[in-house]
Amino acid sequence: MAIPLRLLLIEDSEDDALLVTHELQRHGYELVYERVESYAATNDALDRSGWDLIISDYSMPQFSGLAALALVQAKGLDVPFILMSGTIGEEIAVEAMKAGAHDYIMKNSMTRLPQAIDRELREAKMRQDRRQAQEIIDYMAYHDPLTALPNRALLHEQLQQAIKLAQREHKTVALLLLDLDRFKEINDTLGHARGDAVLQQVGHRLKEALRESDMVARLGGDEFAIMLPLSSPDHAHIVARKVLSALEAPFIMEKLPIMVEASIGIALHPDHGDTVEELIQRSDIAMYIAKRHKSGFVLYEPALDQHSPRHLTLMAELRQAIDQRQLRLYYQPKVDLKTGRMTGVEGLLRWQHAEHGFIPPDQFIAPAEQTGLIFPLTRFVLEEATQQCRAWRQGGLNICTSINLSARNLQDPTLPRQVAELVAARGLEPCGLELELTESAIMMNPARALEVLTQLHEMGVLLTIDDFGIGYSSLAYLQRLPISTIKIDKSFVLNMVSNDNDRVIVRSTIDLGHNLGLKVVAEGVENQVIWEELIAFDCDLAQGYYISRPMPAADLPAWLSQSPWGAGLPAAS
Ligand code: C2E
Ligand code: CA
Ligand code: CA
Repeated sequence: MAIPLRLLLIEDSEDDALLVTHELQRHGYELVYERVESYAATNDALDRSGWDLIISDYSMPQFSGLAALALVQAKGLDVPFILMSGTIGEEIAVEAMKAGAHDYIMKNSMTRLPQAIDRELREAKMRQDRRQAQEIIDYMAYHDPLTALPNRALLHEQLQQAIKLAQREHKTVALLLLDLDRFKEINDTLGHARGDAVLQQVGHRLKEALRESDMVARLGGDEFAIMLPLSSPDHAHIVARKVLSALEAPFIMEKLPIMVEASIGIALHPDHGDTVEELIQRSDIAMYIAKRHKSGFVLYEPALDQHSPRHLTLMAELRQAIDQRQLRLYYQPKVDLKTGRMTGVEGLLRWQHAEHGFIPPDQFIAPAEQTGLIFPLTRFVLEEATQQCRAWRQGGLNICTSINLSARNLQDPTLPRQVAELVAARGLEPCGLELELTESAIMMNPARALEVLTQLHEMGVLLTIDDFGIGYSSLAYLQRLPISTIKIDKSFVLNMVSNDNDRVIVRSTIDLGHNLGLKVVAEGVENQVIWEELIAFDCDLAQGYYISRPMPAADLPAWLSQSPWGAGLPAAS
C-alpha cells in the first residue's frame, strides 16, 4: 500500500535526488516532492508548509544543510530533518545532531534511509498528537464546556492582568457579576437539558451585546461575569443597562417563549479593590443587593457589606468558632538586634475554616469590629496568650507576649479590669504582656483611649503603637501617650533597601522614637540586607519572615533549638 509523503529535498545534485526518491518509492512511499538548492528557494518552500519530511544535502555550492536546519528552526516548524552527505565525517555528524537534525545518512548507505524515515515520521506524529492533546487540555482548563465561554480560571488570570495594566496606566477596570433570577424554576419546570440550552443562549447574547475587548465568562451555574478593561465608572453603568436589555427579549425554547431576568453587581478597580478576590467578592455583594431589591444592577459601596449574606454567615460562623475555640494563636518571634536573641513574640490569630480553608485575619477582624464580635474575640486572644505566656515562663523562657487590640477594644471601659484579672489569675507579671494598638484606633476617640491606656500602663502592661508611619504620626500627641514602643509599619521596612524614601522614613522614625525615649521595632524584616541596615540604624527589635513566620506555640521549642536567635534560651514548651 502506498504511503503518501510530502518531501522537501534540499539538494544541488539531480542525480542524488533521483537516488533518494527512487529508494523511497521502492520502499512504498508515494512521493510529492520538490527539490531546492538555495536559501531563497528553501525559504519559499518552507512557507508553503505541509511538509512531512525534509532531507538536506550537507554541503552545496549555494547553501548548506546546517543553514537550512537553522531556517527550519527559526520558522518554528516541527518537521523531521535528515542530513545527507557523501563526505560526512563523524564530527560533522555529531555537530548536526547537536544542532537538532533528526538523523544523518551517508549517500553510500542509502538503504538505511527508509527505516530512518519510518521512525522519524512515527515520532513526529507522536509529538503532534501530544501537542494536540495538550492544546485540548489547556482549552478545557480555561473554558466552560457548556457555553464555550472562558471559565473562572481564565477570568481570574485576565482580570489580574487587566488590574496590573490599569495600575500602570491609571485607568479603571470594571467587573460585572451577573446572576439569572429564578433560574432554578426554569430548570425545574423545563428540565436540565432545556435549562442548559437557555444558558448557552444567554452566553451568546452577552457576547453579542459586548465589544471584542470586553470579556464574558461563565463562573458556573447561572452566574456569568463581564470584565471591562479601561472603562470609566459611567461606562460600567451603560454596559450593565445594555446587558440587561439584551436579555429582555424572550428566549424561544421549542416554540415556547421563556423570560429570563438577571441581576448585576458591579465593582471597580481601583475604587473597590486591588485584587481579583476583592473585586469578585464586592461585585458579589452588590449583585446580592440588586437581586434582593429587584433593581437590575447595583454599584458596590462599602456600606453594602453589612447586608451581604457572606458577611452574615461569616460572622455567625466566627461567633461559633470563638465559642468552640476553633481559632488559634500563632506566634511570631521578635528579636533584639543588638544581642541577636529572641525577646518576645506577637500573637496573631489564625482561623482554619472547615469549608473555606484558611481565612486571613484581615478578612474577619474588621467585620468583627462592626458586629461587636471583637469583644469575645479579644477576650479569647487574651486568655490564650496569657496562658501560653505563663507556660513559657514556667519553662524558664522569660519572654514578652504581645497581642493586637482593635479600635473598639480601646473604647471598652471594662478592658483594663479584664486584663488585670487575667494577669492575676495566671500569676503573670504584667510586663509579660504587651498590647499593640494603631494610631488610628486611638484617634477614633482619643480622650477615651487615653483613659483606658493610662489604666493599662499603670498596671504595668506594655503598650506599643503598631503600624507606625501610616497614621497621623502626631508627634505632640504621641508624647502624651503612656507607650513604651513604636513598631514601624512593614510597608516601609519591606522596601527600605530599594526605596530611598522608605529608608529615610525608617531611619528618622528610629531617631524620633529614641528621642522620645521609646523602643523601636521594625516589622516585615524579610532578608538579611534589611536586618543589617536596621542594625546600622540602631533599631532595637526586628520581626519578620527572615527570622520566622508566625508558628503554633508547639513549634517554638524546635525553632528555638535550631535557630541562631534561640541560642542560649531554654527551649521551653
Ligand atoms: P499586624 O499586627 O501588623 O501583624 C503583622 C502582619 O504582618 C501579620 O499578618 C504577619 O504575619 C505579617 N508579617 C510578619 N512578618 C512579615 C514579613 O516579613 N513580611 C510580610 N510581608 N508580612 C509579615 P497577619 O497575621 O495576616 O495579620 C494581619 C493583621 O491582622 C495584623 O497586622 C493585625 O492588624 C490583625 N490581627 C491579627 N491577629 C489579631 C488579633 O488577635 N486581634 C486583632 N484585633 N487584630 C489581629
Ligand atoms: Ca501587630
Ligand atoms: Ca503591624
